[in-house]
Amino acid sequence: MLKELIDQFYLENQKNREQTRFYITDAGKCPRAVFFKFKNAPREPIDARLMRIFEHGDSIHRNIFNILYRLRLGVVTEIPIPSQEIISGRADAILCVGNENYVLDIKSMNSMIFRNLTAPKEENVYQIQLYLHFFNIKKGILLYIDKDRQEMKEFFVDYDEAMCKDLLDKFYALKGQVESDSLPAKLEDFPRNWQCSYCPYKATCKAEKGEIYKTQIA
Ligand code: SF4
Repeated sequence: MLKELIDQFYLENQKNREQTRFYITDAGKCPRAVFFKFKNAPREPIDARLMRIFEHGDSIHRNIFNILYRLRLGVVTEIPIPSQEIISGRADAILCVGNENYVLDIKSMNSMIFRNLTAPKEENVYQIQLYLHFFNIKKGILLYIDKDRQEMKEFFVDYDEAMCKDLLDKFYALKGQVESDSLPAKLEDFPRNWQCSYCPYKATCKAEKGEIYKTQIA
């Protein structure tokens, strides 16, 4: 009884915001999936369990912010990137250690993924690179937290101008496709790519040429 009521609460309170701008977290994501999001295409609903996992991740972030403040590392948290036409985003924190400014991005994950992590995930590097770019800061830290065992790993990232240019070029190209209603191709290794396994637009994507989304926006 209680379980159903709690699940229902999450489902009724889920935000289904229409996407009108790119987010830094879209960097490295399948362009076709991002396109579907812009077009408000049919998607599988987020289940209540997943929403609770996201919420748990948020509370881990808040705990770390609290410690950083107490360490007096010159911390500002949840800072939006300067406004410009293409992309929005909010860095977890900017801090100062040994007179050097760093952008901090915190990621939480389960023990199994954490244990196998020997380098930062590619999509996380893309995101922190864009934060470095928009804040004009040269160094970043990706802090990974094991949600189950509370262990941590950190990786330092140096600003890479060429990578940021490439990422922004891809956003501009996708913006053109969204505006011209030109559906991006499936990922080359569809459906084996890990993104396809978690993609809420799988059914829409599988449909020939993705016509389903057009009926939704008509
Ligand atoms: S199923 Fe795969 S290729 Fe299709 S939109 Fe989703 S992530 Fe992209």
